[in-house]
Amino acid sequence: MKKALIRGIAIAIVSFTVLLFMNSCKTRKEGSETFNVAFLTDIHIDYRRNAVAGVEKALDSVNALNPDFIITGGDLIMDALGQSYGRADSLYNLYQETIRKASVPVYNTMGNHEIYGIYSRSGADPLHPEYGEKMYEKRIGQSYYSFMHKGWKFMILNSIEDTGKDRYVGLIDSVQAAWITKELESTDQGTPIVISTHIPFITVMDQRYEGSTVPNDSSLVVYNSRQVLDLFREHNLKLVLQGHLHILEDIYYEGVRYITGGAVCGGWWRGPYRTCEEGFLWLTFGKDDFTWKYVDYNWVASE
Ligand SMILES: [Zn+2]
Repeated sequence: MKKALIRGIAIAIVSFTVLLFMNSCKTRKEGSETFNVAFLTDIHIDYRRNAVAGVEKALDSVNALNPDFIITGGDLIMDALGQSYGRADSLYNLYQETIRKASVPVYNTMGNHEIYGIYSRSGADPLHPEYGEKMYEKRIGQSYYSFMHKGWKFMILNSIEDTGKDRYVGLIDSVQAAWITKELESTDQGTPIVISTHIPFITVMDQRYEGSTVPNDSSLVVYNSRQVLDLFREHNLKLVLQGHLHILEDIYYEGVRYITGGAVCGGWWRGPYRTCEEGFLWLTFGKDDFTWKYVDYNWVASE
């Protein structure tokens, strides 16, 4: 009887200590404000050039780092713009099968290559139920949306506009601009904001490679980015994540960073592009700031 009582007290003391320890761990975790995000842009999944193994290797690398989530920067597939329905359909399926290997949530951004059939060589019927952006919306989800994470607001934008003339341009259309305005009305002015846009808002790539007075083409940049950025004037915009160019650049102006995040596929799975290796951005967010680095996941292209 006495032994049982002593054992009971001992168990109670151990349980209490374990509970105290667990509670202190929990408090520490909730109190820590940093979190990590992987930004994987220009994946361009394809049946050719061993691309699927490349995407899997990139995802293995991300999974080992264990971010809170992944943002993709668009151009998930290669491609749907000028392809038959069968090819576009199978590449979307291939992407969705492969990205399932990510062990954390994935927030997708739409790229120009996800838009089905707008190049006339595809032979696509504009009345097809999945024509244009509808293919993306039906299979992946909304092409623009927002979410909150640990005090930060993430806004995923649709930066591509079909001109109807065998060509796309970089544009945030008026419907989306109205949505941004509405979103910001209900966002505290101090809330740090991150944008993900496939086509860059600001880049110096062509000025660096073509000449400092060369203007950007409207398919290379979002041509109304000035107006879009003006919408954020009274808000705490911190970071614009960009894709499309397969280069790594970091522009800092008036408190906003514009980072073009390289490419998972490098030079479309043929090797590095310009000076940029196949890789992804690794971002660590604090309360109101962040740091980043480029992770080369050591892919070697094979023809
Ligand atoms: Zn692109």
